[in-house]
Amino acid sequence: MMKKLSVIVPCYNEEAVLPAFYDEITKVAEGCSNYDFEFLFVNDGSKDATQNIVESFAKKDERVKFISFSRNFGKEAGMLAGLEHCTGDFACFIDADLQHSPELIPEMLKAVDEEGYDIAACRRVDRKGEKKFKSMLSGAFYKVVNKISETYIDDGAQDYRVMNRNVIDSILSMKENIRFTKGIFSWVGFNVKWFPHENRERAAGDTKWSVTKLFKYAMDGIIGYTASPLRIPLYLGILLIILSGIFALAVIIQYAVLGFIYALTLRCVMFSVLFVGGLILISLGIAGEYLARIYTEVKDRPKYLIAKTNCDK
Ligand code: UDP
Ligand code: MG
Repeated sequence: MMKKLSVIVPCYNEEAVLPAFYDEITKVAEGCSNYDFEFLFVNDGSKDATQNIVESFAKKDERVKFISFSRNFGKEAGMLAGLEHCTGDFACFIDADLQHSPELIPEMLKAVDEEGYDIAACRRVDRKGEKKFKSMLSGAFYKVVNKISETYIDDGAQDYRVMNRNVIDSILSMKENIRFTKGIFSWVGFNVKWFPHENRERAAGDTKWSVTKLFKYAMDGIIGYTASPLRIPLYLGILLIILSGIFALAVIIQYAVLGFIYALTLRCVMFSVLFVGGLILISLGIAGEYLARIYTEVKDRPKYLIAKTNCDK
């Protein structure tokens, strides 16, 4: 029996690149003739012809499996669905837009199958080909996360990776609803072999990440992997008490030296109201973020809904 690699491809409105992607990935598979392949396309509620194209692949190629969501659930849900339905001894995540060079797969496969690694993952060497603004935002994000979080998240680590069955099952054993895959990858640990990998230009189509989507992703990453923002109000509160103590002391000294206090009362009151009001709102906001996530987790809704699939399990 040959070992099998499941290639998991999350797709959202990728009609422009899918044919080229399929060509490349099947060529790579031909080169690895001692492995069986499964190409698992997860159509994340695309509004274009993605589903038709994938089904046309499936018609002529029985290695092609697809899962089509009832709407857009996000790339994280797509990757989870891929892991849950893949049947391979190994699984590989790869983007449909050919920014992840498929020709690296044989080397990564060798690392997990022959060299004793559990995971072979790609690490970005630079952020070439990415918008300046986006690089800046993500750079700042990783700095913040790694300052305050217990789980180290590698700035350059990409979703592009091959892992063995043990890793797949470990990832699937994490049942949280709000899934921040980069955090999950890092949290599960295991023996990782890193491959330097230059992001290529997108072969066609547009990036599917908007700034709001990225912001939400960043918040999930921070809040999902550290509770320290919950402690910010505590520190602010202590600081505030010290400040107000100094303020009171100054007033007393002024009174002792001059014998009277300047009529600053109104300004002081205005300042305190705004300052304290701001602090209370910040605290409420942080508590609210956690509460919202507890709410989502407790509701325990399905992470995705399948409208159509040709997977048997
Ligand atoms: N993707 C997805 N669902 C989404 C957004 C993106 O399945 O809601 C897929 C997309 O089709 C692509 C991969 O995730 O295969 C990476 O997306 P994209 O290339 O837009 O991200 P970028 O490379 O710009 O970070
Ligand atoms: Mg891309």
